[in-house]
Amino acid sequence: MPAGSYREFRHEYPFSWLGILANVAPSSEELIYAYHERGFALHSLRSNAVSRLYIQVDNDDKIEAWPDERIWEELSIRLGTEGWSLQHGPIFEKSITPMRSFMIDNMQHGRLFLAGDAAHIVPPTGGKGLNLAVADIRWLAQALIHFYDTQQNKLLDQYSSNCLRRIWRAQDFSNFMTRLFHKQAEHGSYENLLQKAKFDYIGTSRAQATTIAENYVGLKHI
Ligand SMILES: Cc1cc2nc3c(=O)[nH]c(=O)nc-3n(C[C@H](O)[C@H](O)[C@H](O)COP(=O)(O)OP(=O)(O)OC[C@H]3O[C@@H](n4cnc5c(N)ncnc54)[C@H](O)[C@@H]3O)c2cc1C
Repeated sequence: MPAGSYREFRHEYPFSWLGILANVAPSSEELIYAYHERGFALHSLRSNAVSRLYIQVDNDDKIEAWPDERIWEELSIRLGTEGWSLQHGPIFEKSITPMRSFMIDNMQHGRLFLAGDAAHIVPPTGGKGLNLAVADIRWLAQALIHFYDTQQNKLLDQYSSNCLRRIWRAQDFSNFMTRLFHKQAEHGSYENLLQKAKFDYIGTSRAQATTIAENYVGLKHI
């Protein structure tokens, strides 16, 4: 992309995710997002026999400082709740991923069209990265079909602006989820209690719960 044909936006968060893949059946059928005073934790699944789990760590944390037993212990503390226990198993992959947001506001130049992570990165908290890549390609496929059917450039010319509506929405939602779920201030501080008020609001307001559900699994109209 020629310099000057786009603007670039970047945001780095002051924490990372330590993620593991383990040969153990998921401990729940559902994803579990946990806010804990020691930091965020996420229980997710790949298959009936493979679990995918994450914990919030510092940006300067090293994977060597996290032997398997320490990871399971930390996951059990952060995800722990009465009447439920986390199943442990052999870890076959572990890595640390920094949380960051990135995008450019023009995804095409002449016959070059960018899609997916090449044009935008979101922190994985909102589960939007792959979905955004597929949504870009949906617009591009329609535009290419239209071009070859009609010899008209109209949809190809609108490619960036059509994609950007959803990308900005996903950027905002991913940022919202990342700030909501990660430990950013000491337990009991003003910022921490504001964060708790946000959780309480989700639990008591159907409107707020619907907003989150719409952004997480919906957005059909964008
Ligand atoms: C820890 C983590 C968790 C995530 N969780 C989720 C989630 O729950 N939900 C979700 O929707 N998204 C999630 N994502 C994001 C998702 O993985 C990406 O947004 C998605 O894979 C982007 O797809 P892509 O095709 O644009 O890029 P990629 O999947 O990166 O594909 C690009 C491909 O191009 C290849 N390549 C690179 N350079 C060259 C070259 N020079 N020549 C040929 N090939 C090349 C690469 O090897 C790669 O295969 C997560 C990401 C991370 C890091």
